Amino acid sequence: MEKELVVVALGGNAILQPGQRGTFEEQMANVRTTCEQLAEMVVSGRYKLVITHGNGPQVGNILLQNELAKEVAAPMPLDVCGAESQGLIGYMIQQTLHNILTENGREDVPIATVVTQVIVDKADPAFKNPSKPVGPFYTESEAKRLAKEKGYVVKEDAGRGWRRVVPSPDPKAIVEKEAIRTLLENHTIVIASGGGGIPVIQEDGKIRGVEAVIDKDLAGERLAVDVGAETFLILTDVEQVKLHYKTPKERPLSRMTLEEAKRYHAEGHFAPGSMEPKVRAAIRFLEAGGKRAIITSLGKALLALDGRAGTTITKD
Ligand code: ADP
Ligand code: MG
Repeated sequence: MEKELVVVALGGNAILQPGQRGTFEEQMANVRTTCEQLAEMVVSGRYKLVITHGNGPQVGNILLQNELAKEVAAPMPLDVCGAESQGLIGYMIQQTLHNILTENGREDVPIATVVTQVIVDKADPAFKNPSKPVGPFYTESEAKRLAKEKGYVVKEDAGRGWRRVVPSPDPKAIVEKEAIRTLLENHTIVIASGGGGIPVIQEDGKIRGVEAVIDKDLAGERLAVDVGAETFLILTDVEQVKLHYKTPKERPLSRMTLEEAKRYHAEGHFAPGSMEPKVRAAIRFLEAGGKRAIITSLGKALLALDGRAGTTITKD
């Protein structure tokens, strides 16, 4: 039987839980739990996997380290910090998944992380309206000094302090898609487009990194289309997508058709920056010819692939 190709997008909680400091040991313990689920998919013999993931807390810490050590070690731009976070998280997943597969007699399965660049349009309106907070919190005076010295755009973040905000442009294409496909043809589990990928723009026949952050679910959708995945599986911290979220009329959805998803999306049931990009990514995936998108929690991944948990979105 042909294995089903699944692109799995891991949410922040797959690597770091709320309230944790982010020590290596904490992250590895979370990654272990996550990889146990992923390994079960592999061991079932039914799925081929491409894995993508968020990087918010990790890139935040890298930016903070850069900031605090800037007098002694040259700080790196945001695109380089993004690349560092892909290596850091890819390494943890690669090693842990390998160890769990080995425990299951499957040390033969190759696993590789691809440092992934994602093309964005330099005319994307997001560049005129930076909105995505990144890195540490500052006092107002620090923030204003950084704005002056470095040209950062800074904003007050919900009473918690000041933060740098960067553009969040729409992902267009995955630069490494042929490399990723080649790995897949050779039965490799690929970890790619971490943190939404490193945003790059095309200019004078070249590509170069830009100071921006791409939404990881929207970039995951591009990846899923480019590798020809049948299923786009978004794993987050809630088991199902809800209508009338956080109101007395709240109700979970087991299934949505593409038309229903578009209607609920237009009606504003999904919060911007969290569930909205996931549903938007699911809609795009189906419109681009994908078979099904699933949104569920990490612990329900396998059940959801069998249609017994989560929220499944299909064309009809
Ligand atoms: P991730 O790191 O997995 O991308 P996010 O925090 O970005 O996680 O998105 C998941 C969150 O979306 C949930 O924890 C939930 O609070 C929020 N959310 C917003 N709208 C909805 C909705 N309509 N149904 C379910 N969850 C929602
Ligand atoms: Mg998110």
